[in-house]
Amino acid sequence: MKKILAIAALLLAACAQSPQLVKNEATSGIDRMYVIPCGENHVKDLSRWTPGVNVGKAAVFADHCYLIRHAKGWMLWDSGNPDRLADLPNGQANPQGTITAFMKKRLVDSLKEIGVAPADIQYFAMSHSHGDHSGNANLFAGSTIFMQQAEYDAVFGPEPQKYGFLPANFEKLRGAKFVLLKGDHDVFGDGTVVIKSTPGHTPGHQSLFVKLPEHGPVLLSGDLVHLIYSWDNEVVPAFNFSVPQSLESIKAMKALVKSTNAEVWINHDPEQTKDIPKAPKWVE
Ligand SMILES: [Zn+2]
Repeated sequence: MKKILAIAALLLAACAQSPQLVKNEATSGIDRMYVIPCGENHVKDLSRWTPGVNVGKAAVFADHCYLIRHAKGWMLWDSGNPDRLADLPNGQANPQGTITAFMKKRLVDSLKEIGVAPADIQYFAMSHSHGDHSGNANLFAGSTIFMQQAEYDAVFGPEPQKYGFLPANFEKLRGAKFVLLKGDHDVFGDGTVVIKSTPGHTPGHQSLFVKLPEHGPVLLSGDLVHLIYSWDNEVVPAFNFSVPQSLESIKAMKALVKSTNAEVWINHDPEQTKDIPKAPKWVE
């Protein structure tokens, strides 16, 4: 009986694997990435992000989450604006009234459409802990979470507000399994998904290098820069945790992009990201 069950399990496993996954497993453990729209942020004065230019100009920032399918499991990068904002058609403004946050489609609904539940996400990491990236972090308390030690200390230390972090966004993560980093980290040990330490915007900001098997390598910026303009001109907001660190991180990532021939995908730039297929479509 045991033997029959084992054979049945093997057959099931064989059926569950698509030919695509089998094909790519030999060369690469990652086979696709979904880019999920995870809200929008409407800002009144773009010059806060581009000091010296765009004074008084209103703008819309895109916001994305990224879901990676790897042979060793699902990994989610960033969690967007909070799903509860989907109930607010006019969005939610910050106390200063300078930014209004929207969530047009809940992250849980986007995941569901792909056939994934929050509990299926084995690995979770955020570029950093601001509200437009940590809005749904509490959903992933069962995941292994990769965070820079410096970011962790700011989030769970005595003064998270000082860094612009909302303690409520992390309340379910206190007992979660964290892997605390002090630099770069190869998530699956095969070079396909590498967390790059890019401090500056926040104490432990990080970007993600993803080697897509067909498309080629991409660097997910996080808030290393907010727009392609900022990347080209090396311009960062004055409100960053450290402007000098931010500029150093941009230079380091420019060197990485050059040496690997990677594309830079800038999370918040609506123009630069508009042609990337969005979930439920994916990029291979
Ligand atoms: Zn952001």
